[in-house]
Amino acid sequence: MDTQNMTIPKHNFFWHIQHPWLFYVLAGLAVAIFTYGLIAHVRLWKKGTGQTYPVFSLNRFVSLLKDILSGRILRGDISAGIMHMLILTGFMTLFAGTLLEALDHYVIHFLQGQVYLAYSFILEVAGLMLTAGLMWAAIRRYIQHINRLENRLEDLIILLWLFTVVVSGFMVEALRLSVQRPEWGAYSFGGYFISLLFSPSYDISDFYPCLWWFHAILALGFIAVIPFCKLFHVLAAPVNIYLKDQPVHIIPPDTGDLPEITFTFHDIVSIDACTRCGRCVNVCPSYGAGEPFRPRDIIADTKEELMHQHGIFLFGADNTELDSNLLWYCTTCGACAEACPVFVSPFNLIRTMRRNEIEKGTRIPPLLTQSLEKLYRYNNPWEATKKKRAQWSKDLNVPDITKLKDSNCLCYFVGCTTSYDTRAQGLARAFVKILQHADVPFGILGKKEACCGDIARRVGEDGLFEEHMSKCLSLFRRYRIKKVVTSSPHCFYTFKNDYPAYMPFIPTDEQTDFRVFHYTQVLKDIMDSGYLKPEKTVAKKVTYHDPCYLGRHSGIFETPREIISSIPGIDFVEMKHYGPDSLCCGGGGGRMWQEDLDGETKMSEIRIREAADTGAEILITACPLCLIMLEDARKTAGLEEILTVMDINELLLMALGIEDR
Ligand code: SF4
Ligand code: SF4
Repeated sequence: MDTQNMTIPKHNFFWHIQHPWLFYVLAGLAVAIFTYGLIAHVRLWKKGTGQTYPVFSLNRFVSLLKDILSGRILRGDISAGIMHMLILTGFMTLFAGTLLEALDHYVIHFLQGQVYLAYSFILEVAGLMLTAGLMWAAIRRYIQHINRLENRLEDLIILLWLFTVVVSGFMVEALRLSVQRPEWGAYSFGGYFISLLFSPSYDISDFYPCLWWFHAILALGFIAVIPFCKLFHVLAAPVNIYLKDQPVHIIPPDTGDLPEITFTFHDIVSIDACTRCGRCVNVCPSYGAGEPFRPRDIIADTKEELMHQHGIFLFGADNTELDSNLLWYCTTCGACAEACPVFVSPFNLIRTMRRNEIEKGTRIPPLLTQSLEKLYRYNNPWEATKKKRAQWSKDLNVPDITKLKDSNCLCYFVGCTTSYDTRAQGLARAFVKILQHADVPFGILGKKEACCGDIARRVGEDGLFEEHMSKCLSLFRRYRIKKVVTSSPHCFYTFKNDYPAYMPFIPTDEQTDFRVFHYTQVLKDIMDSGYLKPEKTVAKKVTYHDPCYLGRHSGIFETPREIISSIPGIDFVEMKHYGPDSLCCGGGGGRMWQEDLDGETKMSEIRIREAADTGAEILITACPLCLIMLEDARKTAGLEEILTVMDINELLLMALGIEDR
């Protein structure tokens, strides 16, 4: 097309429109309502407790851009990701286009000539993208009936509203072009092709202004309503992604009464950032096991409660009170956070909510209460005695580290479950034999060992956690312990993440520095140093279950696999869900110490069947809780003849040719 000889294309926003001042008034009103809502949200965020507000950091900003551009939104559901990107890109481009239009109209006229043609073309593409995305969304929600998607009136209204804005926008353009018929009309190709349906002789003088105002009011109304409906995630999600690396949330000890809101700034932003997409529901093992628990609904109910309490109107809120019994279903496996496209961590928010329930002293599952009482009295959630803690090691000649006081010596922190549960003791016995075989200097704390506090922390009993943290720190200080290796990924995670978060609030003379390892890291290190050579062939087909607190929470996926694969004869296969997508065994987050909740099937049985489906003869894991849960599930699922459940240490013992048990 020869654009040189055309009439100069330019934008005429108020073509055939009377009283443009009315538009200014309405636009001002929409912006005022939007700003009011935005300020109300930010004021609520700032009521968050005990944590810093975001400051500008270039690194974080770059990381935010990377996260947005990395296609995280596509993970796990490409169709949903593309649909969302169409809507988001289309919407944001049209929004930016509207701002440019205002700039052109009120400040500086620049939308003319080639610039206008490019502007018009880009907006046409954006309009089509948005239309396609909205239609795709409607098909997914109302024709395909995607399971994880909700069917709320708010969703339907938002879809129809936005769809009407776009379609009416195209129609306004089409009517205008049908009269103007400019040579450059094809640049506005969406409206242009529709305009061919109308004869230039049609009298649009009455209809056009009505349609124009209809479109303008709908579009401005849509902007005004954003802070008061789920669409606010468009603004909150980037802030949440920006804040994603905030350290573990703690409410500083000894603060007396709980603050008005026990969520942090970041917590409240993340509640606001939730898009209600339901990806967390899809991957939640509790929901997958047929339990009446959906992390998305917990967040949505909490948001409604927060907004209601602080006088922020929320479109579509039914203000149903959060059923706090549901909080105890979460295993804190972290699958939800892994799947969430906007980095919300439902399990972290749930932990904070549990803390509030514990503070109130209500609605705590009875068996869990008993376990916490045992923890308080006997230093472990299992047995009403401290004496049996080191019984598993009686015949193994394990050095007592409390007598060595050698800071170079490795402290094997056995942990409560491995010390008291007869099945998990196999892990400890095997690990000790391997360390002895490799001549690694180590010792245990024996009867003096205390619980690391993991169970208390996960269920929100922060006071009890702080007590156990103090006990452990005091032991490490007194016996000059600088290197700790744990049996359990739970102890490992707690030492590595929760203890450092509390350090600023602990008097200096009660602090101590120590490094912590999970036993798989120590094994790998010894193997790499050449002190451990698994030379005996183990001709077995094996698969590996990633413990949540070793894999997803600590990022240790390869080390266990490398150890297993180094054994001669091993035929290693992965399960359907592995690595970051691994399925939880159902034992974390305090679930091990609760009565069975009302699901259709056990999470551990779902996992063990997945392992059996691979044809593996041995299912390997690296956590005492997983070991117990999966061993139990093997029996209840009737797989005893087919599958053996082992800890990595036990497998390695076989490969080293050392006698087991
Ligand atoms: S928490 Fe994340 S995954 Fe779950 S519904 Fe909200 S945005 Fe989606
Ligand atoms: S941590 Fe696991 S169990 Fe808890 S809500 Fe998330 S996915 Fe569900």
